[in-house]
Amino acid sequence: AVIHRADYRPPAFWIDSVELCFDLDPQKTRVLNRMRLRRNPSMPAEALRLHGEELNLARVLVNGQGASFKLEDSHLVLENLPEGHEPFDLEVFTTCAPAKNTKLMGLYVSNDSFFTQCEAEGFRRITYFLDRPDVMATYSVLIRADKAKYPVLLSNGNLVEQGELDAGRHYARWVDPHRKPSYLFALVAGSLVAREQRITTRGGKDHLLQVYVRPGDLDKTEHAMNSLMASIAWDEARFGLPLDLERFMIVATSDFNMGAMENKGLNIFNTKYVLASQATATDVDYANIESVVGHEYFHNWTGNRVTCRDWFQLSLKEGLTVFRDQEFSQDLAGEPSARAVRRIEDVRVLRTAQFPEDAGPMAHPVRPDQYLEINNFYTVTIYEKGAELVRMMQTLVGREGFARGMKLYFERHDGQAVTCDDFAQAIADANPDSPLARLLPQFKRWYSQAGTPRLSARSRWDAASGTYSLTLSQSCAPTPGQPVKEPFVIPVQLGLLDASGAALSNGLHVLTQESETLTMSGLSSEPVPSILRGFSAPVCLDYPYTDAQLLLLLAHDTDPFNRWEAAQRLALHRALQAVRDSGHVELDAPFIEAMRGVLRHPQLDAAFKELVLTLPSETYIAEQLEVVDPQRIHAVREAMRQQLATALRHDWEWAYEAHHDTGAYRPDPRSTGRRALAGLALTHLCLAARLSGDPVWPGKTLQRFKDAANMTDRFNALSALVTSGHPLAAQALDRFHGQFKDDALVLDKWFALQAGAPDRGGNILPLVKQLMQHPDFNIRNPNRARSLVFSYCSANPGAFHRTDAAGYVFWSDRVIELDAINPQVAARLARALDRWRRLVEPCRSAAREAIARVAAKPDLSNDVREVVTRALAD
Ligand code: ZN
Repeated sequence: AVIHRADYRPPAFWIDSVELCFDLDPQKTRVLNRMRLRRNPSMPAEALRLHGEELNLARVLVNGQGASFKLEDSHLVLENLPEGHEPFDLEVFTTCAPAKNTKLMGLYVSNDSFFTQCEAEGFRRITYFLDRPDVMATYSVLIRADKAKYPVLLSNGNLVEQGELDAGRHYARWVDPHRKPSYLFALVAGSLVAREQRITTRGGKDHLLQVYVRPGDLDKTEHAMNSLMASIAWDEARFGLPLDLERFMIVATSDFNMGAMENKGLNIFNTKYVLASQATATDVDYANIESVVGHEYFHNWTGNRVTCRDWFQLSLKEGLTVFRDQEFSQDLAGEPSARAVRRIEDVRVLRTAQFPEDAGPMAHPVRPDQYLEINNFYTVTIYEKGAELVRMMQTLVGREGFARGMKLYFERHDGQAVTCDDFAQAIADANPDSPLARLLPQFKRWYSQAGTPRLSARSRWDAASGTYSLTLSQSCAPTPGQPVKEPFVIPVQLGLLDASGAALSNGLHVLTQESETLTMSGLSSEPVPSILRGFSAPVCLDYPYTDAQLLLLLAHDTDPFNRWEAAQRLALHRALQAVRDSGHVELDAPFIEAMRGVLRHPQLDAAFKELVLTLPSETYIAEQLEVVDPQRIHAVREAMRQQLATALRHDWEWAYEAHHDTGAYRPDPRSTGRRALAGLALTHLCLAARLSGDPVWPGKTLQRFKDAANMTDRFNALSALVTSGHPLAAQALDRFHGQFKDDALVLDKWFALQAGAPDRGGNILPLVKQLMQHPDFNIRNPNRARSLVFSYCSANPGAFHRTDAAGYVFWSDRVIELDAINPQVAARLARALDRWRRLVEPCRSAAREAIARVAAKPDLSNDVREVVTRALAD
């Protein structure tokens, strides 16, 4: 049944404390749950309805006595509870089967260890409970298990007792000093080892930090531990938020639906975001680990100390915490140019993943009004767009004002379960004279209205009077259920450059009306506007830039974001022109010279050059078009890359020679940027060689692949051979597999690279099908499923959207297959056809048919059903 935000009611009962006792067994785990409850005095008396899912109920006692109860569609209902407001005890005894739990929600087994995932609604798969975030309790957890198989027993909080039991079993008791909602509960048991670090924080408190992994992986935990220490220091320095625990643990598991989970004091992570060594992880992996470790740690305050009243408020914690992890990564990057690189990367994610979501059938506000399955709302809109909303607030109150707002937020709400409104109110109240405070009700439309606003700018130049005027207008297309949109508050960071590229002005204009005109006089020549500097709002900017203006911005803008953006626009204009021109591309000399100028620029950072020389993605190009022909877009982008490769061959050679390092590996922004640019150069050199038949660079690339001292260089070389379709790719892939066959995360890269490679005559789908039969493929492991199936269906549009519909048939088979195993993963895959309506025929009809085929399956999960129903709705 669809749940509505407007239907929120506080619970009729509170649960003050929980005592859990686990007897762990993969086939049949016994869970004894003793709760202390009381009626919520501010709600009328009603029956207690506890959530439960796939549980076997053995016993229910109220104040130690047998009690009458009913089981009603996955609820345990107790009608005859003691009246009055005195607390009472409720004891529930259930069993569950962790080994059969392929959904990876609740308590499950992975590699012979036990893990839990409770957010959003997994705790009800462990025991009957009021499994909603506004019910906060203190937890005491006793874990009993076989000592040889499960030497390590962990839960939230502090270890207060441990010891031996008979029959080779042992126990541990954990007590969490903080009240928490059930979604933050965690338990881990298994054969694990930990890297440990003791730290003293500012107030002189000692803490124990631990990163738990499988034996053998300990040498890959240093970066995660360093990232954790950096996160702790950063949150204290930037926001005055200290670590409030004696012990903080991170545990890695290779079976995990998402990235990681912020369980109080016991974060559980996908191994992908923990394990790194220079031999097995790329620079991108290192950066991701830093940001995910930071993200989960920052949740300790934004999410755990102050949590969500209900799941419609998810962005309260996720948008804010993504904003915090982005700021953390920027602050660690240090120099302004390295910060800008991070910002560009974040915006790229927003524009290639969130903008399409906001324009498709699953579009929803940052604070949704309804859902069928909450797991479908862990989206780029909630996370990344939510982070942009927080960023706009910071822009409107200033960095210090924002820190003041955070302080007030915690003063008001520490220990509470609150709403997005409460957060915005605190930021505004701490800054009463800010535009945010003045415009708060209008600003909050960002939370309630879905869709990406379009910001149109039009300029007029009056040479006679030296007057320049810029009219800014906003509009927002309808989204499902929201036909009409009210104007947003759009902070527009705006600069003007003169004809020589010198800066004339820079300032923030806060657009609130549908249309406003800014006028500047006393100018001697027509200026060039640099609009939306730093991407100051999550909007789609439409301004009829000429090539000359873009070239000027690319050469001279002081804002690195818009400098990059100018190059993207130059490339995008050409790509769109070529797509309209039946796919014909011939890159012009000025564009090529501009790219050469950036590549050879004496001052620009390598990382920035790499971003500029990377063409807009196929997905981003597609988003600009009314009718999308993915194969044509792919062909156009490939042709552009090929021409850049050939025309700049000597410059790429220079770039490679000048940037490939041989020294010790360090994943800092500078060396990361150098490796990225060297990698891009290799790819282009292999592409150029493909056309010219020159064997030198492919040979060098193979040698580089073999000799590489780190995974970044090795993988970039492999990828250059594979994406250029060179015959040497086959032996390199074989060698890579042989070398890393025991490292699951590296094998994921091996699968993903092949499934994501450019299609040549329809060769990728047969290859993907063949790889599904590979002994290392296992669709039950989410990372592996993503590396092969998602890399093909969601990340390789040119290969997936086949006119013979075979890609879609494959997709529907996999969605159905996965839905029986893991509905969350299946529903993610189902989203690959979100934008089917814009596809060119015959793709469009074929895609609709494939979606309908999935929708026709009788017992779909809520997760997949919600996605396909919305996709087909008009
Ligand atoms: Zn999060």
